[in-house]
Amino acid sequence: MSETHPPEMLCRELVEVVTDYLEHRLSPRDRARFEAHLAECEYCETYLEQMRQTIRALGRLPEESLSVDARDGLLTAFRDWTRR
Ligand SMILES: [Zn+2]
Repeated sequence: MSETHPPEMLCRELVEVVTDYLEHRLSPRDRARFEAHLAECEYCETYLEQMRQTIRALGRLPEESLSVDARDGLLTAFRDWTRR
């Protein structure tokens, strides 16, 4: 399988790896894809900012359950958005 040109990161993929990104656990390649997507996607930019605000409020990364509502809302928005 040729991997010379990394595939563009999808919104739902970004949402899945956002905690890894914030904990600096992404590979350099995925981190580059993450940031490339972020630069062009205001939805994910907003999502990342919400995550950062949550972390500031809690003083740590939220438990999975705390981010579910935000994530479900975001994914619903993406579904509506891509349907257009
Ligand atoms: Zn996105």
